[in-house]
Amino acid sequence: MHEQRLVSAQAIGDEDNIDIVLRPIRLSDYIGQEKVKSNLAVFIAAARARKQSLDHVLLSGPPGLGKTTLATIIAQEMGSAIRRTSGPAIERPGDLAAILTNLEPGDILFIDEIHRMNRSIEEIMYPAMEDFCIDIVIGKGPAARTLQIDLPPFTLVGATTRPGLLSSPLRDRFGITFRLDFYGELELAQIITRAASILKIPIDSAGAAEIARCSRGTPRVANRLLKRVADFALVKGNGCIDRESALQSLEMLEIDDHGLDMVDRMILDAIITKFSGGPVGLETLAASVSEETDTLTDVYEPYLLKLGLINKTPRGRVATERAYRVMGLAPRRTMAEPSLFEEDGQ
Ligand code: ADP
Repeated sequence: MHEQRLVSAQAIGDEDNIDIVLRPIRLSDYIGQEKVKSNLAVFIAAARARKQSLDHVLLSGPPGLGKTTLATIIAQEMGSAIRRTSGPAIERPGDLAAILTNLEPGDILFIDEIHRMNRSIEEIMYPAMEDFCIDIVIGKGPAARTLQIDLPPFTLVGATTRPGLLSSPLRDRFGITFRLDFYGELELAQIITRAASILKIPIDSAGAAEIARCSRGTPRVANRLLKRVADFALVKGNGCIDRESALQSLEMLEIDDHGLDMVDRMILDAIITKFSGGPVGLETLAASVSEETDTLTDVYEPYLLKLGLINKTPRGRVATERAYRVMGLAPRRTMAEPSLFEEDGQ
């Protein structure tokens, strides 16, 4: 046991590497998202049978649901190399031209946060995706010439947390689009058990279930929580994560039964108490909880919406009745929800 505890302490010590260490390599290791997996398996098998590159793939969904993982799995299953970049990292058209002209036949080009790619750069992508060529302008003014460069066939895998922000010409050029959904608790428990075995953290099924319940439907959160709970179990307990030690750790981490953390509760509290239940605009809400608007829309809101704790209206965010209950408050009465008590004249 002592040796096992030491191994786990070392293996999980390197924060930056955890995503890489725990990333499933093959499609069969990828837990959940069954529909996506089965469709992808067919498309990959068909592309391989035709000896062609896979059609371009767009993956959307909140952060931490496995978009990057899926991109690396696609490369692995296609037997191709993967080149990674992100929308904001491509600053000038020349940057993208350099990336594209260095691709080898069949390569997977993964662009994370593709919705943040600059429009002028995006335009280079259209002929590259459609006809595997790019037009480069050489020189300036009347002497400028356009040179067409052929590219090897490649597969663009784009990942985005905000598919709505993608321009339609770019979106239309993806032959395959998948939307990843939040994971169920059983799938998360499987992900946690798998991660624990890789990291050599002793855990029982009840401990995994407790962490899964508080993981916001997100594998990355599940893996991070597993690490934190393992820290508590190592220092305060006997090193093994069971139901009791998981519950104690989650309480110390201030994560409640619904998987809500301090920021989630600050957001709900702000809407309910500072803005009388809403509607409140995104910028005002972000300022009142000292978070970036993007963090609010990409990280926090999708889960609060999924739990039915907030609604988005044209005038801003509103707290639902459920949010009041979760926060231990009596729901406010609105014009739309008249009290039966008053109607009866009592
Ligand atoms: P995204 O790119 O959507 O932000 P990642 O692909 O980086 O998310 O996933 C974060 C981590 O969650 C990965 O390192 C991996 O360990 C884990 N993960 C994600 N999806 C799965 C899955 N379906 N099965 C097992 N682990 C997963």
